[in-house]
Amino acid sequence: MSEYRKSFFWCLCFCLMLSIVAALDLLTSYRQEEKSAYDRVANASFLLSEWLHGTMENSDYVLRDIIGQVSPDALRYPDTDLVRQARITRLIEAKRATLPNAAGVGLIDSNCVVTHTNAQAGVDVSSREWCKSMREDPLRETLVSHVYTNKAGRLSVTQVRRFPGAGPGFHGLAGVALDLGVFSDRIALMALGQGGAILIADTRLGLLARKPARPELLGKILDDVQTAKFGASNERYAFYRGRSTIDGHKRLYGARKVDDLPFIVIVGEADSDWQASWRQRALAELAALLLFCAMAILMLRKHWVLLRHQQMLSKMANTDTLAGIANRRHFMSRFGVELKHAQRHGTGLAVLMLDIDHFKQINDTYGHAMGDQAILACARACQTVLRDIDFLSRFGGDEFAILLSDTGIEGAQVAAERLRQEILHCRIASTAGEPVTMTASIGLAMLDASTPDVEAALAKADAALYRAKSRGRNCIEFAA
Ligand code: GH3
Ligand code: MG
Repeated sequence: MSEYRKSFFWCLCFCLMLSIVAALDLLTSYRQEEKSAYDRVANASFLLSEWLHGTMENSDYVLRDIIGQVSPDALRYPDTDLVRQARITRLIEAKRATLPNAAGVGLIDSNCVVTHTNAQAGVDVSSREWCKSMREDPLRETLVSHVYTNKAGRLSVTQVRRFPGAGPGFHGLAGVALDLGVFSDRIALMALGQGGAILIADTRLGLLARKPARPELLGKILDDVQTAKFGASNERYAFYRGRSTIDGHKRLYGARKVDDLPFIVIVGEADSDWQASWRQRALAELAALLLFCAMAILMLRKHWVLLRHQQMLSKMANTDTLAGIANRRHFMSRFGVELKHAQRHGTGLAVLMLDIDHFKQINDTYGHAMGDQAILACARACQTVLRDIDFLSRFGGDEFAILLSDTGIEGAQVAAERLRQEILHCRIASTAGEPVTMTASIGLAMLDASTPDVEAALAKADAALYRAKSRGRNCIEFAA
């Protein structure tokens, strides 16, 4: 993998890792916020249901008190004992006064006729569901009716308690009609988030009270699938999330059935409320993530610029500026590697020293610039002959050093001859008109395990080149 890819990979890993850490953190904090919201609605619904229970217990206590002070024999209409009638009526009035939400208190005989009340006595209530239920179920001591709207147009329930009698059977009831306006008053006092909602419903999902107040909906049946499902289930408490059919808010709800009473308490916290701080946190983390990733990308770009500079410097340090091929420095380091490789694997390695003949004359005759052209043309000529695995370098001046990897003596000979021929046929256009030609002499040395080092190998090739020059130039000489 190139340095560029490697650094890109690590940058990507860094950004991915940060993203994963941030995502995990956000997920955990989301769960925590959700759990806190669930806890809050659970606690609020518990408190409200306890209050409801307490309120109904209060009125039940009053009924017990009345029953304790009235004999079942007195349950007749009309009561012929006027003194007793007056005493019981006073008792009923006094007890009613202790219950701020009591619309009426009354006593009912075994035929479900109202015998004593603060309102109208003699009324037959045998058709009311609470009276029927109490008559039919002798084990039931007390009952709270379903919600109804009373004559004054107020939502009410009737709470009744059985009169104990001497023998078995139904002896009568004490009952109180309770105005449910007190429910609305109570939940109006409860703290609520901006988009929150609190509801009290009866078990048939009739709405008894709501915050924020919606008086026009009181007594109407709640059209909500999840609440209906909860109401029909055996669960005492349930959590769910959904969109309100009343105001369209998305909320997290805690719904609780009030023990022994036909009421359901529902507390909802708006998603927008409980998610508000989490959203802020998410935004802050996203901003930090983007910042870190942007910094990582900037650093990557800086690293790439440095890398490019480094590569450029290294190329400059290893390249001959005139011929655009490897320089002596590069040749020496490559030679060391190739020599070790050849000695370890027993492969053939040839080194050629090539020098342009009478180069000074080209310089002197055509000028230094033409001399440069000749050096360049010689390098190009060598490149066309050599294979990719061979290594060509300008050793200095008009001298080139060439490594032929994985090559035996015959191969090296052929390559050297091809080089000589290519240079011989080279034509360099000159300003004078006729093309400039040149020849080159080559010294060739084969290297093997006995070659001690690079310098010794070069000395062998150099000596061969010297001999080629002495032999008259434009020829190839082999090192001994
Ligand atoms: P021989 O056949 O013995 O090699 O004779 P020669 O004239 O080629 O002699 P030699 O190889 O010693 O000559 C090298 C000359 O090349 C010396 C120097 O003036 C010239 N030279 C060295 N570097 C450059 C260069 O970059 N450009 C040019 N134009 N000439 C250079
Ligand atoms: Mg020369």
